[in-house]
Amino acid sequence: MLIKARAQAKLPTTKYGNFACTAYKIGGHDYACVTCGDVTTGNPFVRIQSGCVYATVFHSADCDCRQEIDDALRVIAGAQHGVFVYAPHKEGRGVDLVTKTLAMANRQETGCDSAEDLSAIGLESNDFRGYDEEVAILRDLQVSRQIRLLSCNDGKRQAVEKGGFTVTQEYCFAKPSHTWQPSTASA
Ligand SMILES: [Zn+2]
Repeated sequence: MLIKARAQAKLPTTKYGNFACTAYKIGGHDYACVTCGDVTTGNPFVRIQSGCVYATVFHSADCDCRQEIDDALRVIAGAQHGVFVYAPHKEGRGVDLVTKTLAMANRQETGCDSAEDLSAIGLESNDFRGYDEEVAILRDLQVSRQIRLLSCNDGKRQAVEKGGFTVTQEYCFAKPSHTWQPSTASA
């Protein structure tokens, strides 16, 4: 995975204290990453998040992205140990904003499951994302090989494991608390 460019700075926040931010350019796309504490040792929290402009800009109630981001940052800042990688262009599980919006409209009309709204409009998959770039970023940041993954997504877990990381604990996003909770299925 070719990382074309990288820059680092401090990122003070209004809500979660101070992070360090690293910006990447990979395959023509921007990736944003924040870290807290020394993520090269121990068992840091890791969140890999795809873009969702409706949630992050407009506070959409149509999905959980906003709450997922907020609580992941809360967990990482609380532990003072973690990394959050954000891929703004991976809208709608890797389609694009227009296709995602078509799927939303169809779901609102038909009441289909949100996890199946892409196939409901005729696409051959419900998730077009890969995570090679995010894993390359984790490796570039020399993140500890033992991680606590803030996700129950099999694709994310498989991608980080393929990249040489061991997931010591998986966390699922729980409702109605809107918080990341340890998965009992994890070791
Ligand atoms: Zn969303």
